Amino acid sequence: MTTTHAPAGMITCDRLVRIFSTDGIEVQALQGLDLLVREGELMALVGASGSGKSTLMNILAGLDTPTAGAARVAGRDLLTMSAADRLSYRRETVGFVWQQTSRNLLPYLTAAQNIALPLRLAGRARRTARRAHARRALELLELLRVADCRDRRPHEMSGGQQQRVAIAVALANDPAVLLADEPTGELDSHTASEIFDAFRTANETLGTTIVIVTHDQAVAGEVRRTVAIRDGRTSTEVLRRSEVDAGTGRETVVAREYAMLDRAGRLQLPADYVRALDMRDRVALELESDHIAVRPDDSGEP
Ligand code: ADP
Ligand code: MG
Repeated sequence: MTTTHAPAGMITCDRLVRIFSTDGIEVQALQGLDLLVREGELMALVGASGSGKSTLMNILAGLDTPTAGAARVAGRDLLTMSAADRLSYRRETVGFVWQQTSRNLLPYLTAAQNIALPLRLAGRARRTARRAHARRALELLELLRVADCRDRRPHEMSGGQQQRVAIAVALANDPAVLLADEPTGELDSHTASEIFDAFRTANETLGTTIVIVTHDQAVAGEVRRTVAIRDGRTSTEVLRRSEVDAGTGRETVVAREYAMLDRAGRLQLPADYVRALDMRDRVALELESDHIAVRPDDSGEP
């Protein structure tokens, strides 16, 4: 095992398994998922519907427990955590933003009151708490550029404003990790990019580690790292970095695709690569000095 040399992550999932059994039918939503997210990262998770993204987010949020494997967030072990630890974990260590704007905010409270609620639940109550909470609420609303919504209830805000207030609520207790499950799913693309800017602001200003599940290619293209989930496992990963051309001084973003090699040596090739070369079943392997070549079967044997 080489994992002992790996830097400690803010989020580490090791062969995570989640099996749902309903009416005697088993669904393996996560089938040995590995993931490492470093402190201060802003990354996106993508994948087809039903690939296990929400299952993973619910586990990381402390709302669901895995069937097997290991998961640690901010040094907390999500499998062995006591009920009391789980509660404080949900209140203070992670913040979450869901796709349904209605799930994020209480309808009868104003934006400022919605933000004050998690502060009160975290029990930071003092005589001056009320004023401190109001100040914290305004600070976050200003940071996310929705200060004008302070005294409005959700129905008096646009969908985009509601999601930005939802991010403020999730950040209220200054969590180490912010999780968002398709937070722009119900919004048009212009509003979606504003929401994405809000996440970036939170990441850059507060240093919060952020994981965003998204369908939106535009959003996925904005982050440095995108991890794809396929059939309950992490499959490929795209890393982007900016390169400045020495001659022209122009900056371009270079994206490169990576795959995850598991401990048994298994590797999942991207479906479009496999299709492009019409590979199936047996493939030819050759070890070169600095890479491994994978070619369609050229043996001529059945
Ligand atoms: P995604 O968010 O990527 O669309 P999900 O994590 O919601 O995928 O679902 C992964 C698989 O697990 C799907 O086949 C889904 O039907 C199943 N699943 C998710 N939650 C439950 C549950 N509570 N009970 C039974 N099956 C579930
Ligand atoms: Mg989902």
